[in-house]
Amino acid sequence: MGDANRTAYRTCPLCEAACGLELTVTGDAVTAVRGDRDHVFSHGFVCPKGATFALLSDDPDRLRRPMLKRNGRHEEVSWDEAFAAVESGLRPIIEAYGSQAVAAYLGNPNVHTMAGGLYITPLLKALGTRNVFSASTVDQMPKHVSCGYLYGSPFAIPVPDLDRTDFLLILGANPWESNGSLATAADFPGRLTALRKRGGRFVVVDPRRTRTAEHADEHLFIRPGTDAFLLFGIVHTLFEEGLTELGRLTPYVSGVDDVRGLAAAFSPERVAGACGVGAERIRGLARELAAAPTAAVYGRIGTCTVEFGTLTSWLVDVVNVLTGNLDRPGGVMFPLAAHLRPNPKPGGKGFTTGRWHSRVRGLPEVKGELPVATLADEIDTPGEGQVRAFLTVAGNPVLSTPNSGRLDRALDGLDFMVSVDPYLNETTRHADVILPPLDATRKGHYDFSFLTLAVRNFAAYSPPVFPADPGGMDECDILARLILIVSGHGAGTPASALHDRMLAGALQKAGLTEASGDGPAERLLDVALRSGAYGLSLDDLIAAPHGVDLGPLQPRVPEVLRTPSGMVELCAPPLAAEAARLREALDRPSPGMVLIGRRHLRSNNSWMHNVPALVKGRDRCTLQVHPADADRLTLADGARAEVTSRVGSLAARVEVTDRVMPGVVSLPHGWGHDLPGVRLAVAAAHPGVNSNVLTDELVIDPLSGNSVMNGIPVEIKPEVG
Ligand code: SF4
Repeated sequence: MGDANRTAYRTCPLCEAACGLELTVTGDAVTAVRGDRDHVFSHGFVCPKGATFALLSDDPDRLRRPMLKRNGRHEEVSWDEAFAAVESGLRPIIEAYGSQAVAAYLGNPNVHTMAGGLYITPLLKALGTRNVFSASTVDQMPKHVSCGYLYGSPFAIPVPDLDRTDFLLILGANPWESNGSLATAADFPGRLTALRKRGGRFVVVDPRRTRTAEHADEHLFIRPGTDAFLLFGIVHTLFEEGLTELGRLTPYVSGVDDVRGLAAAFSPERVAGACGVGAERIRGLARELAAAPTAAVYGRIGTCTVEFGTLTSWLVDVVNVLTGNLDRPGGVMFPLAAHLRPNPKPGGKGFTTGRWHSRVRGLPEVKGELPVATLADEIDTPGEGQVRAFLTVAGNPVLSTPNSGRLDRALDGLDFMVSVDPYLNETTRHADVILPPLDATRKGHYDFSFLTLAVRNFAAYSPPVFPADPGGMDECDILARLILIVSGHGAGTPASALHDRMLAGALQKAGLTEASGDGPAERLLDVALRSGAYGLSLDDLIAAPHGVDLGPLQPRVPEVLRTPSGMVELCAPPLAAEAARLREALDRPSPGMVLIGRRHLRSNNSWMHNVPALVKGRDRCTLQVHPADADRLTLADGARAEVTSRVGSLAARVEVTDRVMPGVVSLPHGWGHDLPGVRLAVAAAHPGVNSNVLTDELVIDPLSGNSVMNGIPVEIKPEVG
């Protein structure tokens, strides 16, 4: 390849915002990255993470060949050797103990790749295990469950119509730094700034004065985990003051009176003490939401990763429904992605949980998986059905799941472990075989997940920037070969055997005879696009490197509804029962000091700490403590404090700041890169501490199985010695 510059365009795969990048390519290297100014959705926006897109691909610690563990050390081997080792490790366990003896864990980056979107479901089906775990149960599962009950599908998630709303209430989210989650909105800060410029307002409710809160019209501190009280106070006020107005949705909503009955117990005066927001301000929020021409309530991680996560997520939507803001421009709306079709008619089977239960703790299945909070139980508790083999795909649960110290120890007891991952990290160091996929510059990209959550309908496909490394392997091929192995087809069976079968099935389902595209994922995408809502094709997207704008979000009720009644079922019985439990919690004593997480612009969970540009500068992994608490606990700024919870303890450097409210301390998550056997040189030089040493695997949101990652009771004292 010559050294002349060329320009390549591609979607950034590093977070949910789906920004367009413009890459300058010199020879076989990306030499500059900037935002694609002509991109139909991101209009040139790029954040510091996106700017390091090429550095991640070029990371010298990134694995490019498979690794096999021999005598406790990982060594590079050929792909054939690696797959043979997978076959000889997995098959005997499946044959001797059955498919339940294998567990799978899927990390968050799976939703950022085409392979993840297309091949994970067939892989899980081929495995046939009910021991499926994912990052969803330390993150957003409550939203899936609440939407499942409300709209009949856990994937029918309404997003705030950011570009048209007049009033936005944000709870437990920091999109100024995260750029949004469960709401794909490139340049979220710019969209919030535009909201204010056009005369709108946004209010942030958060136990921490985040960067989003700093830019808001108003910030209200709230006690961690108590947003359900605040939201019920708003719902109570809407009913009491006659402010409910369902508008166009009136004939499509059932259960309004049931919600009215539940809300009676939660007057603002009754909940103010529990949540820490004054009764008059709660009433004021209800009045503002009702009076605004359009309004949207948006709740995210801080509303999900708490004991009443599903109830809180549900209440977010209840307020949107009661104020007439569901499914209308400027409110919250359902995107329609180009690879999906509208439902032929409203209604469906609805949503349920508990189709099976976990072996040890009896926790119900949710959306086909079990809570990751019980993964260690399933591995380290002997008995029939014990997990003996483990497959991870793009996950690092040793850093990202509760009581991670116990999980770390449990993984040592496995008979076999295989990981699809580009890094030898805190989790994959336990793997017998590591299968690293090609880096992002060498594969195509289409956001199967995030285009269903975009605040404006659009579609974009990015072709690979460089040809595949001849010694590397595409993730579709890796997953296909794993599927073939667990299905008993033998480690030597070529991936194309599965690709061909999957394509034939997709073509038949779509009533098509052929598909275009250079790779297996591209051909499946082409089929989905051609049978999708807008009749696009892969060629259409290839011809539009800056994306195809499909217009502002359109109303989709009742078509989007998959409930048995074909209505928005506002008060499903499990939620009503959970409201009764919340009522009992009103009188609980304060838990004392509690720990919450926090998000930084230059970090995304555990997977960007090996890029020098993203970890340089001052240590960000600090324990934020309010000055009044620091005084009381004799903690000095810059000194170290020992933090202890029911399950563990750690020592972290104290940062005294009034950004957190009294009674609350904050640590970011995804850190703790100081374990032996890891190959992450940059991260190891900036290890930080693992906040999940403190999170408790026994405390979960019962409806979703989501771990409680915010509001962890802790004791804090100065570190001795
Ligand atoms: S906001 Fe997200 S998608 Fe956009 S450049 Fe940053 S990491 Fe990439």
